Amino acid sequence: MVAARGLCLYACPPIEQGAGAFCVLIIKKTTLMARLVLKFGGTSVADLDRIRNVARHVKREVDAGNEVAVVVSAMAGQTNKLVEFCREASPLHDAREYDAVVASGEQVTSGLLAVVLQDMGVNARSWQGWQVPIKTDENHGAARIKEIDADFLSERLSQGQVAVLAGFQGISPDNRISTLGRGGSDTSAVAIAAAVKADRCDIYTDVDGVYTTDPRIVPKAKRLDRVSFEEMLEMASLGAKVLQVRSVEMAMVHGVRTFVRSSFDDPDAPQVGNGGLPPGTLICDEDELVEQQVVTGIAFAKDEAQISIRDVADKPGVAESVFGPLADANINVDMIVQNISPDGKTTDITFTVPEADYIRAISVLEDNRGEIGFQNLEGATDVVKVSVIGIGMRSHAGIAAQCFRGLAEKGINIRAITTSEIKISVLIDSAYTELAVRTLHSLYGLDG
Ligand code: ASP
Ligand code: MG
Repeated sequence: MVAARGLCLYACPPIEQGAGAFCVLIIKKTTLMARLVLKFGGTSVADLDRIRNVARHVKREVDAGNEVAVVVSAMAGQTNKLVEFCREASPLHDAREYDAVVASGEQVTSGLLAVVLQDMGVNARSWQGWQVPIKTDENHGAARIKEIDADFLSERLSQGQVAVLAGFQGISPDNRISTLGRGGSDTSAVAIAAAVKADRCDIYTDVDGVYTTDPRIVPKAKRLDRVSFEEMLEMASLGAKVLQVRSVEMAMVHGVRTFVRSSFDDPDAPQVGNGGLPPGTLICDEDELVEQQVVTGIAFAKDEAQISIRDVADKPGVAESVFGPLADANINVDMIVQNISPDGKTTDITFTVPEADYIRAISVLEDNRGEIGFQNLEGATDVVKVSVIGIGMRSHAGIAAQCFRGLAEKGINIRAITTSEIKISVLIDSAYTELAVRTLHSLYGLDG
C-alpha cells in the first residue's frame, strides 16, 4: 500500500520569455510505505533465540514504516510430534480431533512471538485462525480456505498494530478448528496477503531462495533472482520442496508477489541487492522477469511409483475402467503412457502414482481385474521423475530433443515421458537421479 508518493514534483512556475530559462524542480523524497505479510517457518521459530531473531526482522520492517502481518509455523518438529500423539492415541482418530491437536503448535509460536515483540516495544497482538476468521471447508486435516474476513485485520494493520497470525489453521463450517495440510502455513500467509491486499508476501525459511535445482545434488546450482508463478508452480509440484504447492497456486491466482528469503540473515544487514530486495527469490508475474532463460530449473521427485498393465483390451472404455476406480479411491495419477496395439486387440498402459499410494493402487486394480481384463500387472517404486522447466520453452523448439540426447549419451533409459507447454518430465531408474539431474543442469547452461 502506497501511503505517500515516493516523489513529489512541485509544479514549476511558468517560464517567462527572456527570463532565466531554467526551472527549479524541488524533489521531495519520502519513504515508500508498504503493507507486508512475513511468514516464518518451523526452523525459523524453533526456539526462543530464533523467535527473538524473527522479532528483529519484524521490528526492522515496522521501523521502516511498513504495515506488517506475520504468519508463523509451529516450532520445527512440533507438528510431527503432535501427529504422532494422535496416531498413538488411536490409529483411526477423528479428523476433527486431529485438527484440535495439531493446530496447537502454531498457537504457541504466535503467542510467544507477540510476547517477544511487545517486549521489544512493538505493538503486536496474536490471532488464531478462528479469530480472524479464516473460513475453510469441512475437509478436516487438509482443508481449503474459502474466505478470509480481512476488514478487521486491515483495520488493525492501518492502526500500526502488528498482527501475529497462527498459520496452518482456520475454522470449518461446523465451527471447529481445521488445518490446511502439512506445510499449510505457506498457504495461510499467501491467502492473508491476498485478503489484506499486501504489496508482498515474504516467506522466511531455512534456505535463501529458490535454486535452479537442489544444491545438495548439484553444488553448482544457482539461486534464481526471479521466477514466474507458472514456473514456480511446476517446480513445487514436481519436487522442489521450498513452498507448499497450494500456496503457489494461490499466489498465481491472486497475483501475490512472493519473496523467498532466509530467516538466518542478520536482521540488521542492509536490505539491498536484487532489484532493491535483499538476497532471495521473487516469485512474480512473467512481465516482471528481467532476463529470460529458456530453461529455469530442473526438479525431481523420488516419491513416484510406476504401474504397468499388460495386455489389456484395446477398446473404448478401457482407460475409464482403469482410471475410474483409482480416482474413486482418491489416488492421483500423473504420467500416462498407452500404446496403439499392433493387431487392434490388446495393448499396455503404464502410469505413475504417488509412492505412498502404490500398494493401494495395486489392490484397487486387482479388485477390478475382471472389469479391466488385463493379463499382467507390474510395478516399480525405484523410479524418479526428473523435470526440465522453463517458460522459454513456449517459444523455443528442440528443448525436449536436447534432453533425450543428453540422457541417452549417459546411457540412461527413459521409462515414460510427459510434457506440457513449459515442462518435460521423464521417468527413469532412481539409481540415475544424480547423474540425470547434473547432466541436464549443465546441458541447459544452468551451472553457476
Ligand atoms: N506446522 C505445520 C507443518 O509442519 C504447518 C507448516 O509448518 O507449514 O506441516
Ligand atoms: Mg514449510
